[in-house]
Amino acid sequence: MNPEAAPREKTGIPRNPGRHELGLSAKLLFPDRDIVERFYVPIIYTACRTCYSEMAPEEIFRKAVDGEFDQAKMQKLINGVIESGHGSTIEHIVFTFAISGVSRTLSHQLVRHRAGVAFDQQSQRYVKFKDAATMLPGTIAEADPGLRGKFEDQVEGSLDLYDELVKAGIPGEDARFVFPNATRTNLVMTANLRALIHMSGLRLCTMAQWEIRRLFQLIRHEIFQVSPFLGTFLAPKCVPLGYCDEMGNRDGHCPIRPHKDRVLDAWAEKAKAARAAGRELPVA
Ligand SMILES: Cc1cc2nc3c(=O)[nH]c(=O)nc-3n(C[C@H](O)[C@H](O)[C@H](O)COP(=O)(O)OP(=O)(O)OC[C@H]3O[C@@H](n4cnc5c(N)ncnc54)[C@H](O)[C@@H]3O)c2cc1C
Repeated sequence: MNPEAAPREKTGIPRNPGRHELGLSAKLLFPDRDIVERFYVPIIYTACRTCYSEMAPEEIFRKAVDGEFDQAKMQKLINGVIESGHGSTIEHIVFTFAISGVSRTLSHQLVRHRAGVAFDQQSQRYVKFKDAATMLPGTIAEADPGLRGKFEDQVEGSLDLYDELVKAGIPGEDARFVFPNATRTNLVMTANLRALIHMSGLRLCTMAQWEIRRLFQLIRHEIFQVSPFLGTFLAPKCVPLGYCDEMGNRDGHCPIRPHKDRVLDAWAEKAKAARAAGRELPVA
């Protein structure tokens, strides 16, 4: 690190990774806006209404698609059901994304999600890379030029050695052992809406790693393009919770929602004041 470099500015919300062009992309492959508008809300609504109605699901669905139910009422029911955590109703709709140019650092985090999501990833066994691309983190791009140079030399050196190994007849599946975490990769990801909301809750949180946070900002943008209504459900987990539960935010540096410690402290204060006034606060 350059000893002359100014200390990094501390801000409330960690710097938005979207400020840097990262060269990664997330494109919604399926469904398009027409399909979402015509069928997605009706499918969720049918799942919700079936639980509370004598009507057969096929009839609810037909009426919903034919516009016989008020759109705002359908959305209100869906909102209530999602807020109540009845998540199976939103497992009936899926979104398929093409995710390109992300680092292996990101993909390793992404594929840790198991429930309601499917992945297919570019193979480092079967693909013989002629010109493997890599990701340069913003902190290193902005670091002392000597340090940045060392990083770039190391990464370039790894890719050169990969070429040499492959040219010497070493199988790609073994030569790849030299690839750095910075190596870019491509995936196809299909997730149902419940899984997508859960993943977004974790990965849009300011505690998430910058690259995966950026990816989920792009994913949210894609969902908004086809449905602003469904897009609003993709938010950091503190938004629907109403408080932050991250240990790393006990100091409250991220102000999106108050940390739960503060909420509990405020409750204890309120209970104390009530007790002093001869009342007990009701506890469910
Ligand atoms: C900020 C951050 C830091 C992280 N740091 C680390 C780290 O240092 N080391 C590390 O190893 N991982 C780390 N992770 C990964 C994390 O532990 C999870 O593996 C990852 O986020 C996947 O989430 P999930 O477990 O909710 O899985 P999902 O597959 O998305 O599961 C969705 C939900 O389904 C339920 N579920 C799924 N599978 C099961 C099951 N088998 N049994 C019971 N319930 C289940 C759970 O309620 C779960 O929350 C980190 C994640 C984040 C967001």
